[in-house]
Amino acid sequence: MPELKKCPLCGDTVEFEIDFPTFDGTGKTVKRIVPKRCACSLKKEEELKQQMELYNRKREVERLRSLSLIDAKAQNVTFESCEQTDGNARALKIATRYVAKFDDLKATGQGVMFYGDVGTGKSYIAAAIANELMAELHTVVMTSFPNILERALDFDSNSLDFASRAELLVIDDLGAERSTDFALEQMYKVIDDRYRSKRPIILTTNLSLDHMKKCADIRYSRIFDRLFEMCYPVELTGLSWRKRSAVRQFDEMKKLLGE
Ligand SMILES: [Zn+2]
Repeated sequence: MPELKKCPLCGDTVEFEIDFPTFDGTGKTVKRIVPKRCACSLKKEEELKQQMELYNRKREVERLRSLSLIDAKAQNVTFESCEQTDGNARALKIATRYVAKFDDLKATGQGVMFYGDVGTGKSYIAAAIANELMAELHTVVMTSFPNILERALDFDSNSLDFASRAELLVIDDLGAERSTDFALEQMYKVIDDRYRSKRPIILTTNLSLDHMKKCADIRYSRIFDRLFEMCYPVELTGLSWRKRSAVRQFDEMKKLLGE
């Protein structure tokens, strides 16, 4: 047995001996020495591969973030920065759990529908979910149907790709869009596409549950039906944030006026 060469770094052999057929009809073999990768070079390759994957993942998260419509106010929102009220406590708890259990919920394509009156903080909580998941390097797109529609009208065949590829699609303010046949068809397409590929949607809407459940317009009802299959409905109630801050302003004024 010949001495096999070793890697000076890890001491692992960098060649091995094989029985090589002579192909002369005798069935005999000869010993041959062939090169092989040592343990440290395989480990190094694996590390490089993981670094590359992490790099690509970060890049994709940032790319989708840049396509998102998270307004300046909600850019840095986290669960920590969400002010808890009686009306949003349950939604906030569910949102926190949703992020914690995202891997499980993602696997089955389950999302949440936050509904309630204007100004109850639905978009804020949805943005917090998006931000928390992006911080964990999940790919998220937060957008609205008017924006999706704008992209669909680009006549670029890949224009809706961003909405289908993200691990989570957050659609803000459903029900505020134009209700043309084309718009509703695009909306259904995006939702149905994610339904079929078991990718979750988080939704916010001012529409009432009753309105969505009893909707007689088939163009809408098939959209709502899909959403009810995919999204767990959570209501936000109570005095709206805007009203609350208005009341607070009034408190200040009362104090100033010595009331
Ligand atoms: Zn080595």
